[in-house]
Amino acid sequence: MHITELRLHGFKSFVDPARAPIEQGLTGVVGPNGCGKSNLLEGVRWVMGATSAKSMRASDMEDVIFSGTAGRPAREHAEVTLVLNDALGQAPAPFNKEDVLEVSRRIRRGLGSTYRINGKEVRAKDVQLLFADAATGANSPALVRQGQISELIAAKPQNRRRILEDAAGIAGLHARRHEADLKLKAAETNLTRLDEILAEIE
Ligand code: ATP
Repeated sequence: MHITELRLHGFKSFVDPARAPIEQGLTGVVGPNGCGKSNLLEGVRWVMGATSAKSMRASDMEDVIFSGTAGRPAREHAEVTLVLNDALGQAPAPFNKEDVLEVSRRIRRGLGSTYRINGKEVRAKDVQLLFADAATGANSPALVRQGQISELIAAKPQNRRRILEDAAGIAGLHARRHEADLKLKAAETNLTRLDEILAEIE
């Protein structure tokens, strides 16, 4: 599975629809200071399901919406799409049936975010798991923010372990185990309740 295109519309400084094809091999982004290079990488992390506004250099998630300039009014929504080639069917079911996956996230002022995979609305968790299984994601060590290397050097051992687990692609397994634990606890509670009802009947 690999990323073939990034599309942004109304996201941060990308007020007009913009697309960046991502070829196999190395892709470089060059431009003067403040032209939006970091915004591009933030767009990638955002569509992967980033939940922290701080990691978007924002105080509120709505701050990722184009906030207007002297000549252009602010926008009401922002959308980022990642196009993925999954010819090998590596995405988790049921998303492994198509060779091309379009994963998008849209935010509207006052209404929060919605996620879509190939046009069908999905949960944030579905998108996060899709990328976690591919050993990437909003918090992936593969996407290196400015200042992140010094943070890594100063990190506590537990945090460093989480980074290694993300890199090894097992973060998705942890999330699924947590979900299975919750379901198991709910089933145990139901069983206890059932025993109580049976005891009452007997
Ligand atoms: P540098 O090389 O200095 O690190 P850069 O190319 O990475 O810069 P970014 O930090 O990606 O540039 O972009 C900063 C620009 O994005 C600023 O001009 C800022 O005003 C603009 N910007 C950020 N958020 C928004 C927003 N919500 N609406 C409009 N413009 C925004």
